[in-house]
Amino acid sequence: MNKFLFLIITFLLILSCKKDIKSAQKVNNKTEEITIEKNNLKTNYKSLFKKNPEYVSNGFDFPVGKPDAKGYYNAQKFKENNHLGDDWNGLGGGNSDLGDTIFAISNGYISEVKNYKGGWGNLVRIIHLKNNKLYESLYAHCNKILVLEKQFIKKGEEIATIGNNNGQYMAHLHLEVRDAVHLDIGPGYSSDTTGYLDPTQFIKNNRE
Ligand SMILES: [Zn+2]
Repeated sequence: MNKFLFLIITFLLILSCKKDIKSAQKVNNKTEEITIEKNNLKTNYKSLFKKNPEYVSNGFDFPVGKPDAKGYYNAQKFKENNHLGDDWNGLGGGNSDLGDTIFAISNGYISEVKNYKGGWGNLVRIIHLKNNKLYESLYAHCNKILVLEKQFIKKGEEIATIGNNNGQYMAHLHLEVRDAVHLDIGPGYSSDTTGYLDPTQFIKNNRE
């Protein structure tokens, strides 16, 4: 082999190895950062509730037809078609429930109010603390939002009205309950339910 060519190849090999090591370090640092952020988030929420103990959860109710979902049915249950939440619809069907009130399922802290557009539309997320564990409830496709983010809320208070995401669906409330409070908005549907709970089952188990 040409000596010069050999030198070039060796040089390129060394360069690519170095790059691999560097990117591996970068990934490790990033994972570490995310873990630290998640822990901070949990600590911050817990200390927030510690300073405002009247907003610690005193049990959970249903988000429509309060407190028992009277006049409503769950049209698409958790895990049905890989659904990550419940779809609450009025018994009248169609858009008969458009504009009906959505209630906070428990005391908590409103962590986010946002129009995510796409398939999500207007959305409210609430953080709850129960038995020293954090949960999150998420209310999607809302017509009107009646609350501001970074505020505390009491169980049964109005947070929004049922919408149809600008006619994309028949009006309904998509409700999720999560036991991971650091998750992104998420896909709405997935066979992987890590971090998600069956909302109806969770509410039934935590009525008080
Ligand atoms: Zn849904």
